[in-house]
Amino acid sequence: MTFSIHGQAVSRGIAIGRAVLVASSRIDVAHYFIGPEQVREELRRLRQARDAVIAEIEQVQRGLQETASMEAHPELTALLDVHLMLLQDVQLQEGVTHFVQERHYNAEWALTSQLELVAKQFDEMEDPYLRERKADLEQITERLLRSMSGAAPAIMAPTSSQEGERAKGSHGTEDPLVLVAHDLSPADTLQFKRSVFVGFATDVGGKTSHTAIVARSMDIPAVVGARGASQLVRQDDWVVIDGDAGVLIVNPSDIVLAEYGFKQRQGEVERQRLARIKNTPAVTLDGERIELLANIEQPSDTLPALAVSAVGVGLFRTEFLFMGRPSGKLPDEDEQYAAYCAAVEGMHGLPVTIRSVDIGADKPLNRSSRDEHLNPALGLRAIRWSLSEPAMFLTQLRAVLRAAAHGKVNLLIPMLAHLREVQQVKALLAKAREQLDARAAVYGPLRLGAMIEIPAAALALRLFLKHFDFFSIGTNDLIQYTLAIDRVDESVTHLYDPLHPAVLQLVATTIADCRAQGKAVSVCGEMAGDPSMTRLLLGLGLRSFSMHPSQILAVKQQILRADTRKLRAWAQQVIESEDPAALMAN
Ligand code: PEP
Ligand code: MG
Repeated sequence: MTFSIHGQAVSRGIAIGRAVLVASSRIDVAHYFIGPEQVREELRRLRQARDAVIAEIEQVQRGLQETASMEAHPELTALLDVHLMLLQDVQLQEGVTHFVQERHYNAEWALTSQLELVAKQFDEMEDPYLRERKADLEQITERLLRSMSGAAPAIMAPTSSQEGERAKGSHGTEDPLVLVAHDLSPADTLQFKRSVFVGFATDVGGKTSHTAIVARSMDIPAVVGARGASQLVRQDDWVVIDGDAGVLIVNPSDIVLAEYGFKQRQGEVERQRLARIKNTPAVTLDGERIELLANIEQPSDTLPALAVSAVGVGLFRTEFLFMGRPSGKLPDEDEQYAAYCAAVEGMHGLPVTIRSVDIGADKPLNRSSRDEHLNPALGLRAIRWSLSEPAMFLTQLRAVLRAAAHGKVNLLIPMLAHLREVQQVKALLAKAREQLDARAAVYGPLRLGAMIEIPAAALALRLFLKHFDFFSIGTNDLIQYTLAIDRVDESVTHLYDPLHPAVLQLVATTIADCRAQGKAVSVCGEMAGDPSMTRLLLGLGLRSFSMHPSQILAVKQQILRADTRKLRAWAQQVIESEDPAALMAN
């Protein structure tokens, strides 16, 4: 049956492929494809976990026997029996083995996929007693996952080099794969970046959630906030992801498929057309040179950045080095230094802006820490967290300082609101230099920048101006905090409005104030990579844009067609208008 699910359009284009479902679990589960040579090992891990859990349960049973409390706890005794029975169930084992052998899922993924499958069958059962066994199944799956977690490798998706080995659908052919999940942690998404998936859809998420941002950087069509997708879509269903309209079409008819195939080819032609301006300097019709920088999440993103002729990195989101680490340990100084050096060297002498870690809110260190705080977006996030963990922050500062010996490095501080925070950052920077001096380590000079992403910082910019060499406007958070809407909550996504007069006012005055003081200013939020906003930002005086490499050419095309002299008065009208969106169309 054909049906469609509407969500948020977060990354353009059309993807057509077979659905690969990633089940969610209370435990952070690794999802990755294995090579054929790893099948035995994965099955061994499964056996080992099963034996360990069986041994655990038997030990509890023995304990009950020894204390003669079996009669006293008949329910517990029965429960343990059911768990043992499920663990030894041949059909369940065969199901999991099938996912490993045939589809090349890693053991954890195979387990949770089998759980989803059987859980659905339990839901459909008439007998309430049997229906309730679903909870038992969930519990033993959880125990098995826990038992395996000690040895679990990092979350990894199939890399393009493993493409030949990727999972085959039950149809037996190698079709393009589309990922469908309830949610993806930003760390998961980053791993999928190196994968063969041609598109993805999630049940939850807003337009500028970090999952959406990473989707955009992967440059694959994606829809988030497609409620119920992971429940309604079945493994191997054919799906179309329309990343332009924010729709997921499941089991499309031949006519619909042909239409989307046509749209897909049109998109490809458009891409090829844009590729022609790759080496054209980003200069407006009236001769204004515009700086187009790249946002990156990992050092290897410098390759796509250079491929579209970015003139530097305007935002390296270092938190992705810190998140979802299987060991639970934060990266040490040498690991960070190696990553920052790789980015600096990867840009071959072009400047790299490294942002200090922005952990918190929708970028927790790990999934379980996500709900710890009632209001994480207003909590201990970004520089607030860094200042509360000085040893961690000093480690990062030392690594950045050392990387600065290898090229032009800027350090950018996120979420500043108080002058006191600026003073603390500067004191810690001085301390990091002292620590490096003490061990005669080599380090380089840094330009220091502040992110303007809290309305208080935009309104009180004068407090910050003399302390920083440059400023970068984080419109994603600036919009979130100005309009008081959670950027990851799809239920308020209709209120997320980059064209709200209050947002435009803050962006406009920040650009104007920085320019008046001769301070470099850039925009590194998603607004910078939205071609429909380029003319407005140029009209407001912006000359430096930082965005995902995938958006650079579309923005450049707008720049090449723009005349900033004509845009100035128009931009002023837009920001003063009661209905900026209406004027934007002119
Ligand atoms: C922003 O807030 O606009 C920004 C660039 O930072 P992030 O999206 O990583 O919060
Ligand atoms: Mg931000």
